Amino acid sequence: MHTQLQQDLQHLNHLLDEVKALARQHYDKIEQIAPGRYVENIKHQNLSQNGIGTEATLAYFKENIASKIANSTGPNYFGFVTGGSTPAAVIGDQLVSIYDQNAFGSNDSMAPQIEHETIHMLKQIFGLVDDFHGSFVTGATMSNFVSLAVARQWAGEQQHIDVSAEGTGKLKLKIASATAHSSLIKSLSMLGIGRNNWTRIDSLPDREAIDCLQLEKFLDEHKHLTTIVVANAGTVNTGDFDDLEKISALKEKYNFWLHIDAAFGGFAALSEKHQHLLKGINKADSITIDAHKWLNVPYDSAMQFNKHKKLLGKVFQNSAAYLSDASMSPDFFHYGPENSRRWRALPAWFTLMAYGKEGHAEIVKRNCEAAKHMATLIEASEHFKLLAPVQLNIVCFTINHAATSNKMVTDFLAMIRDDGRAFFTPTVYQGKAAIRAAVSNWMTHKDHVEKAFHALEDVYKKMSKSMS
Ligand SMILES: *Cc1c(COP(=O)(O)O)cnc(C)c1O
Repeated sequence: MHTQLQQDLQHLNHLLDEVKALARQHYDKIEQIAPGRYVENIKHQNLSQNGIGTEATLAYFKENIASKIANSTGPNYFGFVTGGSTPAAVIGDQLVSIYDQNAFGSNDSMAPQIEHETIHMLKQIFGLVDDFHGSFVTGATMSNFVSLAVARQWAGEQQHIDVSAEGTGKLKLKIASATAHSSLIKSLSMLGIGRNNWTRIDSLPDREAIDCLQLEKFLDEHKHLTTIVVANAGTVNTGDFDDLEKISALKEKYNFWLHIDAAFGGFAALSEKHQHLLKGINKADSITIDAHKWLNVPYDSAMQFNKHKKLLGKVFQNSAAYLSDASMSPDFFHYGPENSRRWRALPAWFTLMAYGKEGHAEIVKRNCEAAKHMATLIEASEHFKLLAPVQLNIVCFTINHAATSNKMVTDFLAMIRDDGRAFFTPTVYQGKAAIRAAVSNWMTHKDHVEKAFHALEDVYKKMSKSMS
């Protein structure tokens, strides 16, 4: 055995203590450490011949890397829709690596069964009917990809083409959606459907939600074509929801596949005030929901829910002499893109076991209230302008200045990042340069939002001083 490996084996306890000390340091200061960091490009070092050992590597990490990463697990990070990681989820995630199970579905481990159990619990969170088959994938992008792959197989069946065998050459289909997430369009490219086969249906005036009359008009005019409708439950700019009830009612009249991208919006199910936004979700053929956003588990975690398990098996069947037959087995490698796969469900299982439905509902409701509070502060300020009412947990606003531009917003947000009290990401909303605040961290409450607002005000004053 290599000497460094031998040493680690002898000093495993000591190494674990060192990691624990580092974790302590991080959690002790999680409220204070700047959420975003400016980082210069580094010069790459070469691979060492014999290694420096794990202890020295950890010391190097502490010294040179730990202080230059985003504190995105903390309560002051409002960029993208990031979420943090609950203590239970972090513990679960550590155990994933310690036990390093291959959760692809072999008969030597309970790991795949825990994935099924986690899916079962999550269906109760979202109020999904039993017909949905579910599994874990790496993120909502991959979940959209899997759903559309199955939708594509369905579209083939409508045209007597087995896409899994014959490919997409003769296939004709249209994708209709209003405010589709970029990952959806990317999936069209990855699946050989093509980005240009997306038809953008108009949104309602001053909204990101789809105009259902326009959608119906489209379906009526394209009756001869196979269509996949992608409904959006929680848009990234404003957290807007398509009317899922109206869209699913159209299924009575027209034949289409309904996919719902509810990456973070799915968690509206946990709030009495917001759960009406998801009415109709059970009519979907497939659903995307992220876990690494609002369930607050570490990255690499989302769910795909699908009512067409047979089609799923057609697309993803992975036959080999030493693997089981798809029609005979519940194995995940026949129902998703991966073969070997991480025990991805365990962090979600831990957080659901530890806090239950109410624990997670409290996070969602507190985050929504904090977002509302932020909107009230923005509206009362002469320096900022709210661009859309808060529907869920996202505040979309901009700088109230005649010179507001994409560059001004980017520069302003860099100043906010360097101020260290909060972190936001930019967007463009209805042609205007804008800022988004997504509240999705298990720690975040009103005080953090107030602190972030003070940072916005202070940096605005600093910026306008330097401009005049
Ligand atoms: C974040 C998001 C995605 C992509 O999710 P990843 O987990 O980053 O792959 C897709 N759709 C919506 C609505 C999202 O918010």
